[in-house]
Amino acid sequence: MSLRYKYKLAQKIISRQRPLDSKGLERICMEIRKAEDDLLTASRDIIKKCIYGCEGICCRNIHIDDIITQWDFVFILTLHNEMSDRISKCIANENLLFASDCVFLENGQGPCIFPDNSRPQVCLTTFCGDEEPIRKEIFHVNSKFYKLQWFVLAARLRACICFPGVFFGANKGKYKASRKLVQDLLERFDQLWKMK
Ligand code: SF4
Ligand code: SF4
Repeated sequence: MSLRYKYKLAQKIISRQRPLDSKGLERICMEIRKAEDDLLTASRDIIKKCIYGCEGICCRNIHIDDIITQWDFVFILTLHNEMSDRISKCIANENLLFASDCVFLENGQGPCIFPDNSRPQVCLTTFCGDEEPIRKEIFHVNSKFYKLQWFVLAARLRACICFPGVFFGANKGKYKASRKLVQDLLERFDQLWKMK
């Protein structure tokens, strides 16, 4: 994949949400931002090493495509749609063949163009120092990103129930057989969300 492909995929995921699901998506993205805020607060001492020590060496000489996923773009675009043009311009500079400095560094130098509490999952949850004291906060951010993925999958399944013709055409028998399976899956998703 490439950043461009993942970015387009994220735009599609967002634009295809039905109004009710859009609200749910926004709510989960706000939960991720809150979890990132909590992690930033908890990791203040460790981050000092990043600011005053190596000054962000982990944003340089990297394959950014290995770091950023479509879910990061879904999260960022849902909360910061005003950044879409800027993100597109950065992505146009992606080097698909060789390691290079991250395309999201301001003017190629830094800092990162994304707000501190709206960073890609891996960028914010990866540290060089001892992660033990902030393990709980890291887990919280990761679990919210998984929740986002489940939510989008469940929204697609719900659409499958509401608009069977799109998926099953005239084959009503196949639709009925699948419907129960889909509903069971949705119930499981709901149970999992309540556990988070
Ligand atoms: S995580 Fe490590 S490499 Fe990255 S900025 Fe912080 S100290 Fe530097
Ligand atoms: S997105 Fe931001 S934090 Fe992540 S690697 Fe790029 S510049 Fe660094």
